[in-house]
Amino acid sequence: EPRMARDDVIKGTDDDAIISKLSAVNLAYLDDPFVKYFVKRPSRRPPLINRGSYLRTRTLDLITEQFIKNEIKSASSPTIPSTTPIRKQIVSLGCGSDTRYFKLKAKGLSVHKYFEIDFQESSAKKAATIKKNKAFTDVIGDPDLKVGLGGTELYSKDYCLLSGDLREFEDTILPKLKAQGFDTSLPTLFLSECVLIYIEPKDSDAIVDWVGANMTASLFVVYEQINPTDAFGAMMLRNLKARNIELPGIHAYPSLKSQEERFMSRGWTLAQAVDMNALHDTLPETELKRISSLEIFDEVEEWQLLASHYCVAWACHVHGSGSKADGAA
Ligand code: SAM
Repeated sequence: EPRMARDDVIKGTDDDAIISKLSAVNLAYLDDPFVKYFVKRPSRRPPLINRGSYLRTRTLDLITEQFIKNEIKSASSPTIPSTTPIRKQIVSLGCGSDTRYFKLKAKGLSVHKYFEIDFQESSAKKAATIKKNKAFTDVIGDPDLKVGLGGTELYSKDYCLLSGDLREFEDTILPKLKAQGFDTSLPTLFLSECVLIYIEPKDSDAIVDWVGANMTASLFVVYEQINPTDAFGAMMLRNLKARNIELPGIHAYPSLKSQEERFMSRGWTLAQAVDMNALHDTLPETELKRISSLEIFDEVEEWQLLASHYCVAWACHVHGSGSKADGAA
């Protein structure tokens, strides 16, 4: 079945991501004691890739931390004081071997419920790694941590790893979320890091539509490729295609503007997209100095080219506020 073969290739993209992340950790770009448990054969990646993994992870970590600490500022209304305890949820779509839940909770940053979702085969591998290493179970800190569905899912007080196909969001994923206490009335961050791009736009749009229509207050963050039509973008796509990887989503959302439109055209309150060059420019001087000292980095032009092909988009939607201008990152 061609769809199954294609899905296997897509599942494999997580191996690449986590090996690159470990390379960045081992060179001290990133601090993450959990990544190593997911990599059998570590390999050092070129400086360009290390810097990319660093910036991508740092950016999404910062957004997630700000969401947890109530530092997401509103354009029109006063910021909610950070002393107000608000129950929140995070949903990581296509989580792969991502370690953000563990990294943040180990730093004392947690939410009411953190849900992770991936294909069954991927979630099974992740569940097994988590279950057998004390480093993970200590952070989960729940003596009633349960394994479900033949070892493919994990359920605990604040962390749930669920299995399923995101292309069946309403029929398959949503009932599983609800069974684990997912609450549409709580402020919720949806994270999609290099995931929606692999899905046909009709399926990713269905997720965005559902979230916009049903969540009381949501923040949706997308990290993915853009600019497929310039020379470098076309080469990037050819290289992926040679490895049997296709990015159907990139043709529907090829630019910063269209990444914003994917939310704004569906009635979201606010959306903004920036490329990785813009994010690189916001690195504090001390941080830039620190990462520059880690390894020789002289591919500045190649870096700028690469960085112009990746973006972070975020969008907010708040229901019943009576104002269109609520919520801005
Ligand atoms: N978000 C993780 C990260 O940034 O480290 C993993 C990224 S990896 C490139 C893409 C992930 O999306 C894979 O783990 C893959 O299995 C998952 N994925 C892609 N399409 C999916 C679908 N239709 N249903 C569930 N998971 C999917």
